[in-house]
Amino acid sequence: MSDSIISFSSLSSQSLNEISSPKEIPADRDADAGYSLRPEKFDDYVGQSETVETLKIAIQAAKMREESLDHILLHGPPGLGKTTISHIIANEMGGTLTVTSGPALEKGGDLIGMLTNLADGDFLFIDEIHRIPKTVEEFLYPAMEDYAVDFVFDKGIHARSHRYRLKHFTLVGATTRVGLLSSPLRDRFGLFRNLDFYTIDELITIIRRSSVLLKSPMDSESALELARRSRGTPRIANRLLKRVRDYSQVRSNGQITLKSVRDALALEGIDEIGLTPLDRNYLNTIIDFYSGGPVGIEAVSATLQEEPDTLVDVVEPYLLKCGLVLRTSSGRKASRKAYEHLGKSYQMELL
Ligand code: ADP
Repeated sequence: MSDSIISFSSLSSQSLNEISSPKEIPADRDADAGYSLRPEKFDDYVGQSETVETLKIAIQAAKMREESLDHILLHGPPGLGKTTISHIIANEMGGTLTVTSGPALEKGGDLIGMLTNLADGDFLFIDEIHRIPKTVEEFLYPAMEDYAVDFVFDKGIHARSHRYRLKHFTLVGATTRVGLLSSPLRDRFGLFRNLDFYTIDELITIIRRSSVLLKSPMDSESALELARRSRGTPRIANRLLKRVRDYSQVRSNGQITLKSVRDALALEGIDEIGLTPLDRNYLNTIIDFYSGGPVGIEAVSATLQEEPDTLVDVVEPYLLKCGLVLRTSSGRKASRKAYEHLGKSYQMELL
């Protein structure tokens, strides 16, 4: 038991391992470095073919009718391309994109200021839209439906309402938790698309494109290895590529090889299927502390000293996708595959 305590006490620093988190960190914003890995047109946007097809049709139809695009809701784990797709849509429609996020909109005035500055055909992108405060959300209903905001002056019997007309804009909402969106808000989106994890082949294409932009070409073996360990997520693939590039520059004469990929990723604590220290600690907690589950997320988060939201939004989606963890009505369970991956012996449940 004391071993476990020692290993868990080092968790907070491991969980800060930003390299392998699919959430955006400042280092991902590479525009300052003179290049951008973010695709700017659909031709460079890899994968998500059904979503791309639906959006292309909607864009073409809106252009033919000379109307603004329907409001769009994008759902999926962080790093899968929701912001990127919004930039592309705005580019294709020739509108300006204003970017904000649910938690940044603290007061109704913050949102109204942005809405009143939008021109016809412009786009407002709200990331983490499920975290928008309720009082602010209520301004979105008439804005989305009638292109208007209602101001209320004075209080009580002197209260007067004034309707201010907005230009025909498009709202693009992005969320990692569509279930937390209220139904009045959800129902006001005309288009709803779910982004899924990327296949190995799609990740290879993304990695190859990025490696050319970074002027660090790599062979197909190395690209495959990196793709396998990128957790199905383009943001992680690009970030790991930059770490591998640094490592190869210093330790491998600037050549990215299969060995330099493996060595660089071992240094980052990324295992052969792309699991991070936090992923492995999550699985180890369920297995060692809760006999493999089922266990509630609150209990796992308390043991790991990690926010439940981080576990639900960042850690679990990929582990569920790989079948390493199962979500049952009574809580999370580690699968046989998780035991095998971690080299632990699996005891069949006796019914
Ligand atoms: P999200 O908004 O879902 O968190 P982003 O749109 O910010 O994710 O994507 C993170 C990064 O991953 C982008 O900067 C871009 O470089 C890369 N990326 C995402 N989706 C794709 C894609 N389909 N094709 C190529 N690169 C992508």
